[in-house]
Amino acid sequence: MLVDSHCHINFPELAGKLDDMLALMRENQVSHALCVSVTLEDFPQVRGLAERYAHIYASVGVHPDYPDVPVVTEEELIGLAAHPKVIAIGETGLDYYRIKGELEWQRERFRTHIRAARGCGKPLIIHMRDAGPDTLRILREEGAREVGGVMHCFTGTWDEAQAAMELGFCISFSGIVTFKNALSLKEVARQVPLERMLIETDSPYLAPVPFRGKLNQPGLVRHVAEEIARLKTVPFDQVAQATTRNFFELFKGARA
Ligand SMILES: [Zn+2]
Ligand SMILES: [Zn+2]
Repeated sequence: MLVDSHCHINFPELAGKLDDMLALMRENQVSHALCVSVTLEDFPQVRGLAERYAHIYASVGVHPDYPDVPVVTEEELIGLAAHPKVIAIGETGLDYYRIKGELEWQRERFRTHIRAARGCGKPLIIHMRDAGPDTLRILREEGAREVGGVMHCFTGTWDEAQAAMELGFCISFSGIVTFKNALSLKEVARQVPLERMLIETDSPYLAPVPFRGKLNQPGLVRHVAEEIARLKTVPFDQVAQATTRNFFELFKGARA
């Protein structure tokens, strides 16, 4: 069995396609998926999916790529995270690629999420794009080690992966690792031990090869696992077992 540790199946791209999506999960033996919230406005939809389907989990958080949403407080996040199907705080983090200019608000929002995660004892889902040094520094400064979490859709360097693992974080690979030109990321995936690895789709975007450019969905996480097995020259089952076990170990609120 496989788990998609990060998807956005509430996004409009997948609206009306839920039945087909769940069928492909079954076909590809993807037993669970974590649907990740990006704003408090979309959170009720995310929570609704987790309430409707036993094998779908939810997170609560405000993504760094949304500059114009209301300021979120630690108390709000902790309150919403009290729901039994909400197993993580995020996604949160820093994105210096998509958003430019004065970004102190992004760093403040990130700190709020880490404090909320510590406040409710749930792990963090970290989005880190072109912002390695600041992301790792803030994780350290705010004591994120206490709750741990995952560096989702990882595209950083091996040094950044190592620093995150030293802080107790897992490294999650998406369909990007299947792209032909992602040579340095493939090298990082070879080096990250299976014991610290998760896999994800980040759907509806970033569909893995051979579906690149098409609509992505949780069932396609199988192709990420296949690529990891190829890169590490280990059996597919070993990747499936390790990443599934890591998911349930990290997200203690989830039941296998
Ligand atoms: Zn992200
Ligand atoms: Zn995401």
